[in-house]
Amino acid sequence: MADFLHQTYNIFSSFATYPFQLLPHCFPPTFKHFAVQIIPYGFLGSICYILDVIFLAIQHRILRALVDNMAHGVIAFVSWCVVSEVLTRKDLADGVLSAFIACALDVDHFIAARSFNLQNALHLKNRPFLHSTTIVFILVPILQVWIAQNVSSLRSLPYVFAVSVISHHLRDGHRRGLWFWPFGSTPPLPYWVYITCTLVTPYFVKEIKRSIAKFNVISISRPTGTLMDV
Ligand SMILES: [Zn+2]
Repeated sequence: MADFLHQTYNIFSSFATYPFQLLPHCFPPTFKHFAVQIIPYGFLGSICYILDVIFLAIQHRILRALVDNMAHGVIAFVSWCVVSEVLTRKDLADGVLSAFIACALDVDHFIAARSFNLQNALHLKNRPFLHSTTIVFILVPILQVWIAQNVSSLRSLPYVFAVSVISHHLRDGHRRGLWFWPFGSTPPLPYWVYITCTLVTPYFVKEIKRSIAKFNVISISRPTGTLMDV
């Protein structure tokens, strides 16, 4: 599946850059390289816009809530695909995990309402706790230090968590603003700010992930006495 997605990604990129290959004298190689790099972000932005169009067209309350939640998952999945470029099956699994986390965040509406009733969950006096963007600054370092550095299969977890939570909060932020507990909330984000930040997030996560991967990390809890964990 990962191979299929990666091949699809390559075919899509090749197809999109075909006009530039036909006109090599008009477009220098650096421009072609830039186009290949930028296409996944254009795809992500298109997905955001299309999902918003679908969401706004739906009138049914429950269906609207379901589509809204599904949109969080799809955007988080595509964002992770942009970060990882889907080079391995693990990248694909992490993409599914990212989608799951993004969808699962909304469970705090029901916890805060102490009810499974959608009407109660959607009409809370205060925003529920998992919708505070502050959790990114608290939990990502904890996940990095206590889990990612000690469990090799969960090495990407802090980045997956950051992508899923930030993409969810940005999408909600277009309607309600970003909430930075205990400091307060921003006004609702203009649509262009929401889209721009959603595209910039995977770019920065990708760059940070790349930079950290270059360093050897000292393991703090290896019983074998091995000091360096590459
Ligand atoms: Zn939400």
